[in-house]
Amino acid sequence: MRRIYLIPLLLAVLTTTMTCSGEKTTSVKTPVDNKSGNVENGNTAPTPHKPPVAEKNASKNQSGDPAGKKNIQTDSHPGKSPESKCLPCEKNKNSNTENPPIQTPVSEATKTLPVSVKNPTKEKKIPHKDEKKPTETVEPKAAPNPDLNIKIIDKPVIWNEMRRQMSLDYLKDRFGIIQKEPTIDPKMIVIHHTHSGSFQSAFWTFQPVKIRGKLRYPKAGRLNLSAHFLVDRAGRIYRLIPENIFGRHIIGIGYMAIGIENVGGTKRFPLTYEQLKANVALVKYLKARFPGIKWLIGHHEYLKFKKTPLWKEKDPKYLTYKPDPGWRFMRNLRNRVKHLNLVSEP
Ligand SMILES: [Zn+2]
Repeated sequence: MRRIYLIPLLLAVLTTTMTCSGEKTTSVKTPVDNKSGNVENGNTAPTPHKPPVAEKNASKNQSGDPAGKKNIQTDSHPGKSPESKCLPCEKNKNSNTENPPIQTPVSEATKTLPVSVKNPTKEKKIPHKDEKKPTETVEPKAAPNPDLNIKIIDKPVIWNEMRRQMSLDYLKDRFGIIQKEPTIDPKMIVIHHTHSGSFQSAFWTFQPVKIRGKLRYPKAGRLNLSAHFLVDRAGRIYRLIPENIFGRHIIGIGYMAIGIENVGGTKRFPLTYEQLKANVALVKYLKARFPGIKWLIGHHEYLKFKKTPLWKEKDPKYLTYKPDPGWRFMRNLRNRVKHLNLVSEP
């Protein structure tokens, strides 16, 4: 009788131990169960960490960057990518060969899980690397160009429909250039000085759209003067109009010239060393931005171009004689930008 009662008791004990150990073995062996069952299984340290990682990578691949499918394949098949240097991913590849191939992307994502379960510490490194790769692909950072490392303050003069139309008229009437927009293809940089000591007075000279009062040369119209840049006496660079928009600052060759004005140029306010440095930086910047720029001249040198095909002013009598900025400033400037091979002759 005792044996009869003991047998059911023993059977009951045996069944409970088998279910506990059975749960543990299945959770390790089958990857699919792992992915879906991590929370339910209640695995402690490694498991809560892994599924978000694998899912994160999978979702990144599907929606992440413009490279699209290429990146999806790279990340979902890290072992196949020639660029992959990730050792844990190589382990994935080996482990995948043991399992039958799975075709759908979802099941491929689950392939990475067995390794992450077995090696929780190494697995933490995988997402770290994978997260960086797509970011670098989407937003490549250009190498900083020291020549472009320049501070330019935008302080535009009035630009409205009237100035635009008057600029178009000037290009047509003075140079015979007919365009839809008053743009220029910069080939030349012209250095000026304002012959005054005040930045504000210089700016307010260029600010209005029209020249007020009596015109010295009525045929040339009332479009106001304006250089592209104005450099104050401390060497601060202000951009008054975009580099590729026409500015009226020089006769005959203004259709291709960017103008740089420097505040000063009188005996009381000679151009400063800070202005020279600013002009050097600006010339380097402009040459880097517009490689087609060939000439660097002072305003006082512009008449050299009069008898060349580059001169487009229609009226041969429309001329002014300019002393700015002077040979000394130009010599100092040219010595500092020799490597750009800019020339002053036509
Ligand atoms: Zn000038």
